[in-house]
Amino acid sequence: MEPIPMYKPLIEKEEIDAAKEALEMGWLGMGSYVAKFEESIKQYVGATNKYVAAVSTGHAALHLGLLVAGVGRGDEVIITSFNNVADFQAILATGAEPVFCDIDDNTLCIDLQKAEELVSPKTKAIIVMDYGCMLCDHDSVEAFAHKYDLRVIHDAAHSFGSKYKGKMIGSFSDICMFSFDPVKNITCIDGGTLIVETGEELRMIHEMRLIGMGQPSAVMYKNQRAWTYEVQRIGFRYHMANLHAAIGLAQLKKMKIITESRRLAARYLSEELRRTPEIITPKTDFHDTTPFLYYIRLPEGKREGFREHLRTRGIDTGIHWQPGHWFALFKGCKKSDLSATDRVGKEIVSLPFHSRMSTETLDRIIDAIKSFFA
Ligand SMILES: *Cc1c(COP(=O)(O)O)cnc(C)c1O
Repeated sequence: MEPIPMYKPLIEKEEIDAAKEALEMGWLGMGSYVAKFEESIKQYVGATNKYVAAVSTGHAALHLGLLVAGVGRGDEVIITSFNNVADFQAILATGAEPVFCDIDDNTLCIDLQKAEELVSPKTKAIIVMDYGCMLCDHDSVEAFAHKYDLRVIHDAAHSFGSKYKGKMIGSFSDICMFSFDPVKNITCIDGGTLIVETGEELRMIHEMRLIGMGQPSAVMYKNQRAWTYEVQRIGFRYHMANLHAAIGLAQLKKMKIITESRRLAARYLSEELRRTPEIITPKTDFHDTTPFLYYIRLPEGKREGFREHLRTRGIDTGIHWQPGHWFALFKGCKKSDLSATDRVGKEIVSLPFHSRMSTETLDRIIDAIKSFFA
């Protein structure tokens, strides 16, 4: 039987043609495709009064987003322990410390009540992440940030294409980041973007993504470069290349089918799996979301047997995530009561999930799960 992988990229003729064109253009670095990609992202998410910068990865976007927020040595950043390692490492890279907050048991996003007790004079920013197919309570996040005068970095790596209360993700946050790595809703193979509110913040990102060089992006967007420039601030090699932007542009044109097919697949899985009493399915009807991950929760102690049962039937599964405070590097970090995170960390398992999943594939996954519990 054909194996069913955890992820399956939607790379078709359009992406391959776009990549070929970009390779043949004769300008491999940051250039015209990057400018088009940034503009298309801006239009797609409706961030018309904001500024969009493409960078090399989601991790780079987080690192630069934190620097734009003024985070540095001696500062603290509140973040859920239930998150991607990229976020924790981005905080460390600025010289600041992550402070681990618990998640809400229903949304698996940040529990703002528990975040209250973590705020200290050193707290500079809060990272909030939309998990899998769920969204944070962004209105409450905004109120929280306002109350404590904090910058918000919205990790929207999982929610590209989704809407919160009718507003596109990316259109309303203080600082918003997307990842377009190989497995995300759309991919640039590797890539990320930052969406910020001021032209000054955009200028900082433009310099920092190009090893601190003050050469205008406008020149590079014409597939040219300036030979004289000033260097005024710390920088990294974090820009996006034309090839990656070209692939991203081809992907972006497919958002309608990506959203529809993923939403349909998620609903199908929930409808079937919610009948099995041992399984907790995501608490959403997927209205207005472009689901990234489909996860379920199992009774504690069942996960390894469950994953093995599916593996022998050719079905891969994943774990998103091992909580941050379980890792050696972060054991000493400040934290709130993390009981929900500890519980969910042991129960959670991700099922194979991608765009354009066939009913046959979904049925095979569902049958394998039902046979485990039978
Ligand atoms: C993928 C991901 C990142 C990191 O993005 P990369 O592009 O892989 O560097 C950060 N946060 C979350 C929630 C992610 O899923």
